[in-house]
Amino acid sequence: MSKGWAAVAAYAEEAQKRQKEYDENKGNFKPRAFPLIVKMGEEADVTFVDVEPDMRTLHTLQLNEKWTTRPCLGDNCPYCAKGNKSKTRCLFTVVDHRSYTREKDGVPVTYRDQLRYFECSPTTADNLNRMLTRKKKKLGTDGIVVNISKSKVDKKSPPMFDLLDRDPESHRIPENVEPFDFDEVFALDSATAFKEAVSGNQVKYS
Ligand SMILES: [Zn+2]
Repeated sequence: MSKGWAAVAAYAEEAQKRQKEYDENKGNFKPRAFPLIVKMGEEADVTFVDVEPDMRTLHTLQLNEKWTTRPCLGDNCPYCAKGNKSKTRCLFTVVDHRSYTREKDGVPVTYRDQLRYFECSPTTADNLNRMLTRKKKKLGTDGIVVNISKSKVDKKSPPMFDLLDRDPESHRIPENVEPFDFDEVFALDSATAFKEAVSGNQVKYS
């Protein structure tokens, strides 16, 4: 941690700026962006909406016992200050073609073809790009569906990719679909980060 009034002033100014961002943006996050989760031994057919990835420096941490991602806030980042190491990640907007059922107002509702963001390391993203280039395909163009799978045995192994042919029945894309603006996606998180850092006790850093 840095010392002195200049550091305090910089932090206070940053906190004020983030608070303003938070106040201005808190109403604009519907629907909120959710990450694509593929657990060990699972797979998902997805359509990539983006042509290219968005690269961000992110922290992974536990918030109220749930793993979550927060953007690194640079010089005054409260997560860096707590010793959480940030990572460079590639983000993509995808349509998750899996279906799942959730209770809504007491009635089971089946969801499918939901918009999510897929996050991976630059090495993994490069592997995806190489696989597509070998097959003379590009992200974001019509008809490309990628199967993403995770190893059954090795938690740390990166996701694997396989190119599929689009099946018009099971790989539907919602109308007027657009890639996420990740500045928007993370603006609220950036603002919230300061609140969490100050209140502290609800956040477990790993
Ligand atoms: Zn940071």
